[in-house]
Amino acid sequence: GDSLFHNVPPAPDIPVYATTVAYNKDPSTNKLHLGIGVYRTEDGKSHTLNVVRQVEQTLANDLSADKEYLPRTGMAEFNRLSAELIFGSGSPAIKESRVTTAQCVSGCGSLRLGAEFLAQHYRQLVVYLPEPTYGNHPNLLSAAGLALKTYRYYDPKTRGLDFQGLLEDLGSALTGAIVLFQASGHNPTGVDPTCQQWEQIRQLVRLRGLLPFFDCAYQGLVSGSLDADAQSIRMFVCDGGESLVAQSYSKTMGLYGERIGSLSIVCKTADVARRVESQLRLVIRPLYSNPPIHGAAIVTAILKDRDLYNEWTSELKAMSDRLAKVRQQLYDALCNRGTPGDWSHIIRQVGMYTFTGLNEEQVRFMTKEYHIYMSSDGRINMGGLSSKAVPHLADAIHAAVTRI
Ligand code: PLP
Repeated sequence: GDSLFHNVPPAPDIPVYATTVAYNKDPSTNKLHLGIGVYRTEDGKSHTLNVVRQVEQTLANDLSADKEYLPRTGMAEFNRLSAELIFGSGSPAIKESRVTTAQCVSGCGSLRLGAEFLAQHYRQLVVYLPEPTYGNHPNLLSAAGLALKTYRYYDPKTRGLDFQGLLEDLGSALTGAIVLFQASGHNPTGVDPTCQQWEQIRQLVRLRGLLPFFDCAYQGLVSGSLDADAQSIRMFVCDGGESLVAQSYSKTMGLYGERIGSLSIVCKTADVARRVESQLRLVIRPLYSNPPIHGAAIVTAILKDRDLYNEWTSELKAMSDRLAKVRQQLYDALCNRGTPGDWSHIIRQVGMYTFTGLNEEQVRFMTKEYHIYMSSDGRINMGGLSSKAVPHLADAIHAAVTRI
């Protein structure tokens, strides 16, 4: 007879995965994968950090390590070190025990846990997202029951920040609303507010009683400095106000598939933080009961040992330097070709992504004629670009803007 599931319709493809599937199927030898946000080596190979390999060896030989369940909020030492990494080790909020941190299933899991907590315990169930933003943000937040709105962020004319629009939209946001910010290296635009702009945003957010929810997935990859890339968050913590912070180690330690990150909730008082933490445990229990060990063990080992930490930060710096280098090379290559238009946004934008301004049709052309795979909104993952592939990409962009 009929399947009990005969009513299940086929789901639409998720674009970022569909791009990967199409790339894998393409037999061309000069194909380029600039879609999904993964940092690769100059040879296009996936990049496991030396420090991670080293730590994994040590962990494998550590006979005292067991496989028993972690607490629902994960490894305590991981949580402490993660909070220090993002807020700074001397952070008053940490010293005053106003921060509660829970180990989560990477950045996405942290966002989802934060959203679930807010849906159960916060009074204003509306969240404002930057337009545009990371493709999974709307899913993660609305799945928890939050209502989505957007605030202006990117200005296609300048290919930079629409700061006026941002201030207007947050200025008229619903009282108490949640506002999602990307701490640095904004995905997909590569456009971040300056420190002065962040300060104005902070004042507005506090004045209007909005609740900031920071997503930090690129700490250290943007400027090469872990402190500088967390500056926006620290400004909001310094003022004594409350905030949520989702932290991911996917890109910063190359731990994508280990699914390791954290959610921190900064509260007004230690007493509130304790109560919030007790509720986080209740929220986690029916979601996945407790988080996995391996990724947390790797991160903890790196963060707690000075030599390993130094090794990590130098590897991180090398990654961020390589991103900046291919940015400059792509810009230079387009200038050399006399490609029509102003391409200076390529070197103004920061972090892993360039928001090229290429339209869907031009992207389609580049895929068909040049075997270049990228998102249809024109975003390029600079982490997937090598110096030797720059001429091919520049040829493709040149052809796309002159012919389409
Ligand atoms: N947040 C942003 C802005 C991202 O770009 C990403 C990944 O691309 C994530 C969160 C989630 O990453 P993960 O769940 O792999 O840590």
